[in-house]
Amino acid sequence: MSTDAYCFQSWPPLPIDVSVTSTVQTSPGQAGVGATYRQTGTVYEANGVVIKSFPAVHIYDGPVSYRLEWNGLCFVFSGDTTPSQFFVDNAKGADLLIHEAFNTVPQLIERSGYDEKSAKGIGTMAHSAPDEAGYVLDQVRPRLAVLYHFFNDFDTVLEIEREVRKHYQGPLALAQDLMVFNVTAGGIRVRMAVTASHVWPNKERHDAFRSASRMKRPQMSRWLADKQLFPKF
Ligand SMILES: [Zn+2]
Repeated sequence: MSTDAYCFQSWPPLPIDVSVTSTVQTSPGQAGVGATYRQTGTVYEANGVVIKSFPAVHIYDGPVSYRLEWNGLCFVFSGDTTPSQFFVDNAKGADLLIHEAFNTVPQLIERSGYDEKSAKGIGTMAHSAPDEAGYVLDQVRPRLAVLYHFFNDFDTVLEIEREVRKHYQGPLALAQDLMVFNVTAGGIRVRMAVTASHVWPNKERHDAFRSASRMKRPQMSRWLADKQLFPKF
């Protein structure tokens, strides 16, 4: 959520190498597996896991969404997209469906300071307006739908849910950072991960710190240093 908000500060997007996006990357050694962003195709297949990609409608040619199938279960992730028939067609049968939705246009104008044209561009053209995302969810009807990407604040989330509920009445979670989904054939649980708030740096990965060149230590005046009770310098 935050990363993408940051990315929009640099709108329009930076130029990219189209050759990089013209073919969805596949895992080395996965013979017979490959797809372009222009069509639905398998991009990974191993150990019973099949991942397919399909076109996402987002600003320019290249973005894709993903569908993962494993053990009779199906997970679909939109990434950035405006609502599309590609998504509705490829998300059918999803157990867990995660679709993006942005804040409403009035919220973007009020909170982010966009003018109306920019707010509509970001909130409804590059991304999915909440009510339009709700339409997609109703078309697919997954076991659990999750909306993410919007700024999920206590005083914005209610308006967003109202918009979604114009079209979709099924199971819904509005994502927050650290939200966890446990999906089985018998049920889907939504939990919040609990992480340590005080952690030491990982000492196994301190080589760069240990080998970094050291700057000369800043100097202090003698009159100040002389007042050390346990003199070190
Ligand atoms: Zn985005």
